[in-house]
Amino acid sequence: MNTPSPALPAGARNLSEAVSALASRLPEPLAPLAAIAYNLRWGWTPGGSDLFESLSPHRWELSSHNPVRMLLELSAPTLERAAGDEQLLQRAHEIQRAIDEDLQRPPADAPSTAYFCAEFGVHRSVPVYSGGLGALAGDHLKEASDRALPLVAVGLMYNQGYFRQRLDASGWQHEYWVPTDPPLLPAALEHDEEGRPVTVTVPIDGEPVVAQIWRVQVGRVPLFLLDTERPDNSRMARWICSQLYVGDPETRLAQYALLGIGGVRALRAMGIEPDTVHLNEGHAAFATLERARPAIEGGSSLDDALAQAREGTVFTTHTPVPAGNDAYPGQLVCDVLGGFAQEAGVDAWRIVELGRTQQYDFDEPFGVTQFALRTSRAANGVARRHGEIAREMWHALWADRDVHDVPIGHITNGVHLPSWVGRAMARLFDGHLGPQWVQGAADPRTWEAIDAIPDEELWAARNEQRAVLVDFVRDRSTADRLQRGESRDYVESAARAFDPDVLTIGFARRIATYKRLDLLVKNAERAIRLLDGDRPVQLLIAGKAHPRDDAGKALVQGLFAQRDRVGRVGERVVFLHDYDLAVGARLVRGCDVWVNVPRPPMEASGTSGMKSAVNGGLQLSVLDGWWPEAYDEHRPNGWALSGETDSDHGAQDYRHADDLYRTLEEEVVPTFYSGQDGGPPHAWLAMVKASIRSIAPRFTAARMLDDYVGRMYRPGGE
Ligand SMILES: *Cc1c(COP(=O)(O)O)cnc(C)c1O
Repeated sequence: MNTPSPALPAGARNLSEAVSALASRLPEPLAPLAAIAYNLRWGWTPGGSDLFESLSPHRWELSSHNPVRMLLELSAPTLERAAGDEQLLQRAHEIQRAIDEDLQRPPADAPSTAYFCAEFGVHRSVPVYSGGLGALAGDHLKEASDRALPLVAVGLMYNQGYFRQRLDASGWQHEYWVPTDPPLLPAALEHDEEGRPVTVTVPIDGEPVVAQIWRVQVGRVPLFLLDTERPDNSRMARWICSQLYVGDPETRLAQYALLGIGGVRALRAMGIEPDTVHLNEGHAAFATLERARPAIEGGSSLDDALAQAREGTVFTTHTPVPAGNDAYPGQLVCDVLGGFAQEAGVDAWRIVELGRTQQYDFDEPFGVTQFALRTSRAANGVARRHGEIAREMWHALWADRDVHDVPIGHITNGVHLPSWVGRAMARLFDGHLGPQWVQGAADPRTWEAIDAIPDEELWAARNEQRAVLVDFVRDRSTADRLQRGESRDYVESAARAFDPDVLTIGFARRIATYKRLDLLVKNAERAIRLLDGDRPVQLLIAGKAHPRDDAGKALVQGLFAQRDRVGRVGERVVFLHDYDLAVGARLVRGCDVWVNVPRPPMEASGTSGMKSAVNGGLQLSVLDGWWPEAYDEHRPNGWALSGETDSDHGAQDYRHADDLYRTLEEEVVPTFYSGQDGGPPHAWLAMVKASIRSIAPRFTAARMLDDYVGRMYRPGGE
């Protein structure tokens, strides 16, 4: 009855069994839905999300847009109704056919690559990500699938995911965790020919830790997630796969050992030997140790074996802040990796030495970034400026070279357009650029026709995306305020909050001190004048503070303290709880201006701005991260605040806040409201066109993948 889709790549037998098992619980005509549900490709196939939502919008929401869970939870009458809906079945067949065709394309000619990362933000329904690094990794996999690259990915299955955020009435952040429940995800455990789960064992912290392997299919790319949540493991070992970026250093190192060493073992157990391993951030750096092990066992020294493994390893660093680079006491590394070192016959302290800037400085801790840099053939930062900062930061590792010759390049991040571009804008691009705006995104010629789009149409698309966001904000902020136990008045103001015709500014990112959320309210009177003027501004804020970052939480609480000052503030400023991929997507689609004011040079890239730009949002950003590469003062495509470094933080904050308000008052607001007699604001739209045309081809993940394949994955690259 349910023949497994022939398009599933070899080795996916277990996923196809999962499809059959789900299909067997559905009325027969709905079998295609089961097949679609088990490949996240539906998430960026036009109509994919609507298909599932149309079965039951309510259950769709409750399942966090996880179709496997929703199909298991729908009532029999709902399923029967869907099974009799010819139009729905027709759409399902079309989507399944589109996905099958995509999966059946021949692979591109490129080195086989295994992409290791501690987090993957592919879709909100698979909660194994926290923020920017994960969103980038998710986009990397989706674009690799679109380009038919021979890439597999390796990560961890966190059984409680990343923390969720709730604020109380005082504005203080509280964290909670939700069980991930892997069997309800679009994931299947890898099994061998005899039907036994494929497992790997890694000695970690004196204990043999067993991990099973979940496969999540991201289009053509399999994402393998290691999971220690098994009855044969101790409580401690099971805790390794509990939470993303768990706080205590011992468990964190255990996660890294599992990801790196266990990840390579898992690939081997499945018969996968990639040409290149791409370490996306240093968390998986121990992968190189495991890849070196066969040579060590064959008699090579650790250094020689690593030199060999190094040839097949490339590394991307994401952290321009020294304190952000993970470091651990040498003894702790020896404790966690002791069993592995013994097994491989190497001295654990030699591993520690390779993770120090000064190898023989016994007081220096082990740094994962130093270890990754030493054991990779090529390394890169994630924006041009970040490359420069990284070369300065790690100059001491190549002390005999000039700083310009430190072997760290840059590949600027890019975003997966089909995942981020909103409906109205996608329709506009389809109509005016033709369907090649997706396939040919990296070619500047694709975007030339932007200039010819009539302003009325562009404005209508922007208004539509803003209106969708405003609806969402009203609904969500009412729910958030009710849950916080706010006063009735304030709750009610949420329902009036936000006007679909008002200039909408977004600030959504991790609440870390260096992101300087506080600049927005540095001068409260001036901020209130902007919010409450005749040409008003409305402001959306979202973001999570690290659970241990009390300063970050206090900052958000400080914002909340302002809410009673003027009646209007409750309607014009909204803090959205629980920033994640889905909230992020709504914000970048609907906001007119995306504000980014990190303290230079601490922003590695800042990819949310790229997502906003491809939706027709304009950037108001400090010249840090990606923005110095994109900002064009000759054909203005946004606004820039200076990106100088200054050790006097107080003075710099004062200048930047002043610049920010001045730009908003004198440039942003008048330009946005420059439309005559209800017509579109032509000056604004000229900037939007300049922004899309200059940014879309260069900051798309298509260009990013071209760069990674050409300059990093092919041997003899950088
Ligand atoms: C894109 C994205 C990020 C990264 O963007 P930044 O500009 O670096 O903050 C973080 N979180 C989510 C949910 C995203 O979608």
